[in-house]
Amino acid sequence: MAAQDSVMTVLKTLQNSVIGERIEVHNPRSGRIEFAFHAPSSSELAARLTGLRAAQARWRARSIDERIEILRRWQHEWMIRQGEIIRALSEDTGRFLIATSEVTAVTGIVDRWAALSPSLALEEEARSATMPQFSYRSQFVPYELVGIISPWNLPAMLCFIDAIPALLAGCAVFIKPSEVTPRFIAPAMASIAAVPELAEVLYLQPGGRQTGEQLVESVDVVCFTGSVATGRLVAANAASHFIPAFLELGGNDPLIVTASADLERATDVALRSTCLATGQACQSIERVYVDRKIFEPFVARLVEKAKVIEPNWPDIHQGTIGPFIFGKQADVVTAQIADAVAKGARVLCGGQVEDHGGKWLRPTVIVDVDHRMALMTEETFGPVIPVMPFDSVDDAVALANDGVYGLSAGVIAGTLEEAEAIGRRIDAGGISLNDGALTAVCHEMEKHSFKLSGLGGSRMGPAGYLRFFRRKVLIRQHSQPATLASAAESNLSKGKSP
Ligand code: NAD
Repeated sequence: MAAQDSVMTVLKTLQNSVIGERIEVHNPRSGRIEFAFHAPSSSELAARLTGLRAAQARWRARSIDERIEILRRWQHEWMIRQGEIIRALSEDTGRFLIATSEVTAVTGIVDRWAALSPSLALEEEARSATMPQFSYRSQFVPYELVGIISPWNLPAMLCFIDAIPALLAGCAVFIKPSEVTPRFIAPAMASIAAVPELAEVLYLQPGGRQTGEQLVESVDVVCFTGSVATGRLVAANAASHFIPAFLELGGNDPLIVTASADLERATDVALRSTCLATGQACQSIERVYVDRKIFEPFVARLVEKAKVIEPNWPDIHQGTIGPFIFGKQADVVTAQIADAVAKGARVLCGGQVEDHGGKWLRPTVIVDVDHRMALMTEETFGPVIPVMPFDSVDDAVALANDGVYGLSAGVIAGTLEEAEAIGRRIDAGGISLNDGALTAVCHEMEKHSFKLSGLGGSRMGPAGYLRFFRRKVLIRQHSQPATLASAAESNLSKGKSP
């Protein structure tokens, strides 16, 4: 058996060096396989990566202003093709409005880093506070080649959120978007090809797991956005190749609603931040804890609001809830709901996946839930709102902190001060006060992922740019260097310090 396995491994390796893995692409609205493509062979991929690395020195030699000007030209080419990109993204994801906002978000990322990056990574000289004979200067040395691996839930935005600051830092960038949503790659690459200086150092490669693995083995730093399970594999692969890995992983974000909260605000936020993008967002609220004093009216109002939300089927331009982008995710959500119901939960609305080839789920409010249920402890990634009562703020905080994730959270209270006092006690990297899931739109402040939700420097705030440099210190000696004689043992008996 072992010999047979190793023969299979050799055959697979040989096959991959000629032609890469074959990947089938489904349409999320019809559920049908629409086309298939081959990932690159390992030698093709190696050549591509070598080419990017070779071009990086020229890119790095440009000033930050030149790099900004080149990215501005690309932004223009991207916008010229927006119709085509939106069409491809809407076929990838089965939704139209969010596809449109992804295209705008990418240009917003260029705007933000174009404004911020020139004032960061400045090589200022500083005198030592304790040893005045020395002064220091930092040199910011960009990594040569940054690898980006992204998921299917926001296919374009999650490629460029890390790529743009890395490019501005002077790195070459190789991106492997999710194999589930590859249609937008062709028009995106056309926009890049229209700017030759950029095309030398930026490439989007359709591919799957094997392409991702080879990427990690070949780059100098990897930015990975995806599940905890894959994140672990990427982290281990990166560690064995001695490169840093910045991991942005899953979450199971809680929302706490206190007795003093405004009911309209609280139910609006609970509905929006659980169901936006069909709940397929890392920072989605996934469980709601409500003070028992307002639990009944909260649930009644939430159900009223949830019941009128329609799927965007059969017309993509109607309704609010898109299909599951990755069909198998519907099975995960269905299994979590069934597990909860088997343990005593009650579904008040939604709850049944509607199969039109593609799969849709209306906003699903569930009560009588507790932490024995996977729905409350694992990431759901669907439009599901489990609501659980609490009797004291201490209980609410304990429930919010009970779990392996620590991505983000929300607190809704009568005042921002009350909300903040609770938010400070939650173990997560981004806390929305009197709202939910604000890290989807606010990227200016640094934040870390707590627990299993991620690893490495912040994607947001100045660190989102600075993490693409290695710091080199240039230490200036303004006085006489020490001689070896200063280390003679006899100096001690003579009362001289070394
Ligand atoms: P996934 O982990 O299945 O796949 C992510 C990417 O990894 C894909 O491009 C895939 O091809 C690639 N990949 C798979 N195996 C690999 C390997 N062994 N080595 C290298 N690359 C490999 O994730 P997904 O299902 O596409 O995305 C959903 C997940 O992403 C959810 O858990 C969600 O919470 C998370 N997410 C996190 C953030 C964040 O910022 N924290 C943002 C969006 C999504």
